Amino acid sequence: MEKRDELYAGKAKSVYTTDNPDYLVLLFRNDTSAFDGKRIEQLERKGMVNNKFNAFIMEKLAAAGIPTHFEKLLSDTECLVKKLDMIPVECVVRNFAAGSICRRYGVEEGIALTPPTFEFFLKNDALGDPMVNEYHIESFGWAKPEQLTKMKELTFKVNDVLVELFAGGNMLLVDFKIEFGLFNGEIVLGDEFSPDGCRLWDKDTREKLDKDRFRQNLGNVVESYELVGQRLGLTF
Ligand code: ADP
Ligand code: UDP
Repeated sequence: MEKRDELYAGKAKSVYTTDNPDYLVLLFRNDTSAFDGKRIEQLERKGMVNNKFNAFIMEKLAAAGIPTHFEKLLSDTECLVKKLDMIPVECVVRNFAAGSICRRYGVEEGIALTPPTFEFFLKNDALGDPMVNEYHIESFGWAKPEQLTKMKELTFKVNDVLVELFAGGNMLLVDFKIEFGLFNGEIVLGDEFSPDGCRLWDKDTREKLDKDRFRQNLGNVVESYELVGQRLGLTF
């Protein structure tokens, strides 16, 4: 597989075409952004850690029957994926209240959400990724109702698989964001799953082990990501 032109440079990853039109290379950079890209810093080793972490999680999800774009690792910071027609909507599941849901509804951080709750956000940094509902998504043509049903079903399945996986490392999966796209008309999990896009707390101390360490200037950001991986049996 030959890497060709840069198709897109996002906030944390760059996307390259390959000699096969159905495949792309994702390059995980060290750039770390918060607040819809208003703050960006370089964190050494983060690209490598997230690339390997994402590969590990995508393989676990595929083994559980979730269709994913992930094909294989190519290098420390690159992987090969199926080229998806991305749906510009972020799917968020929350098991505990944290982040924007606390600000929006005035609830205390850390309360358990039973059952876990689900939210859609429009992927649009200029607008600050506003929350949208299924009527908006259908009316604006971002996805069809049956595609939304599938995205919700798969997101809850990802939650079931990963709550258990992280519990095995004595961690709580607080919330996460994932993105889907279409490959030959089928809904497929795309983008990445890493501590950049989820919240993970130590089960006993509730210490934050995810990107909130960056957002809240708690330090040891990449070290915490590595610790999460190590607790799942990964070596970097
Ligand atoms: P952002 O665009 O939010 O700044 P990234 O820096 O992570 O995010 O950039 C990666 C981009 O690649 C995102 O826009 C994401 O939607 C897109 N992407 C991820 N996986 C695929 C895929 N398999 N096919 C096409 N595009 C993808
Ligand atoms: N998230 C993300 N990208 C975004 C917005 C949110 O990966 O553009 C993740 C975030 O890391 C958290 C979850 O989605 O795990 C819910 O985020 P929230 O709505 O609480 O937003 P935030 O507090 O980051 O503003």
